[in-house]
Amino acid sequence: MPANTMAHNIAMEESVTLRHWPYPYCAMLAVCSDLDETPDRKAYWDTSEFLNTTRSTPMGQGLGLEIGNTIYFDMTADQFAYWNTDDAGRSMVQSLVRSGYIDCLHSFGDLATTREHAQRALDELEQSGCRLDVWIDHAQAVTNFDGSIMMGEGDVTSSPAYHADLTIRHGVHYVWRGRVSSVLGQDVPPQLGGILSPAHPIASGKTLAKELTKQVLSRMGNEKYAMHAPNRILTRSQLRDGQPVYEFLRCNPHWGGVSSHETAWGIGDVLTDRMLKQLVDRQGACILYTHLGKSEPDATVPLGASAIEGFRRLAKSQANGEMLVTTTRRLLGYCRAKEEIGVTVTHDNDTIVIDVKTSAHCYATLPPIIDRDLEGLTFYTPDPDRTRINVDGEPVLTLTQNAADATGRTSVSIPWTRLEFPES
Ligand SMILES: [Zn+2]
Repeated sequence: MPANTMAHNIAMEESVTLRHWPYPYCAMLAVCSDLDETPDRKAYWDTSEFLNTTRSTPMGQGLGLEIGNTIYFDMTADQFAYWNTDDAGRSMVQSLVRSGYIDCLHSFGDLATTREHAQRALDELEQSGCRLDVWIDHAQAVTNFDGSIMMGEGDVTSSPAYHADLTIRHGVHYVWRGRVSSVLGQDVPPQLGGILSPAHPIASGKTLAKELTKQVLSRMGNEKYAMHAPNRILTRSQLRDGQPVYEFLRCNPHWGGVSSHETAWGIGDVLTDRMLKQLVDRQGACILYTHLGKSEPDATVPLGASAIEGFRRLAKSQANGEMLVTTTRRLLGYCRAKEEIGVTVTHDNDTIVIDVKTSAHCYATLPPIIDRDLEGLTFYTPDPDRTRINVDGEPVLTLTQNAADATGRTSVSIPWTRLEFPES
């Protein structure tokens, strides 16, 4: 090969880099709602249908977003939960799990106190063809995995509530153990700007001081706040029985603090134009901590006017190509894939070949990355028409060729496909 051709090819290969977020988006957000206080299956369904479809719903025409939900099993009779609802409710939950719109276990519930409770719930999921990969600690449920903030014993082998072996075997490999940040935007350096609100100087000053303290303690090696300074959405971790998991960080950037406006009646004050713009400007990821089952006191529908306006702003940001909105599971899978893949760029005549190896940097014995985790992966390339991608040696047959973005660079993407919401 002539020296100038070789130099040209090396330059081309070096110019192929992974874009942070799927083209054309500059940020990624999951609304991660704990289902606490959801009154019944109708409220659960109506909320989900309004957010995820463009159908006509009791709250108006749906927004066509992609927003998941959580589920638990053993709760007091006044709350929607798997064992409390009727057969139609259980069938609804199963179809939402299978389609990806229920993506997180929210503990096994307040009344699940033993390994047998966990086993019964996992058996039910598996017999229905359902698998959940994400665990979220709930209140002070004894099946929780965090022993300090969330008072759980789910991963303590000597506890009657020990279930971690069963739950990890079921498929859970992403866990949330009570950590919420006021910093808007993870997977970018932590920025405290935006927490202070000129209209609420005292309350927002307290929130800023709290977050600052967490950041300082985190840098000093404090275990409880270990996730705050690195500000990563995912951290490689272990349960107390030694099993490897990815732990994730949630965010509530409201000026009133992480436990403020984390509800259906409050989310309209969280999903503001300022917040959405800030996340896009920072090019970060956000798993938003909230409880959409806690609705406005006088509301006759699950989401009140303010919440609906907030979600409309979110839908607009996505329609403008700024913010990709997806479920918690999909956001975690995408972030994990970015971290774990290995990429080699070579030339085949005049074609640029990007070889992606999915197990290049995998963590311990966790389940492998799935095809859906790779959707949206975008590589800058000087010549999209002559760029191919192989995944584990197999060519990706359909690639999207993208025009130049704000950086002036063209790219190719593995297409991002939407989940399919069930009919009923
Ligand atoms: Zn909860």
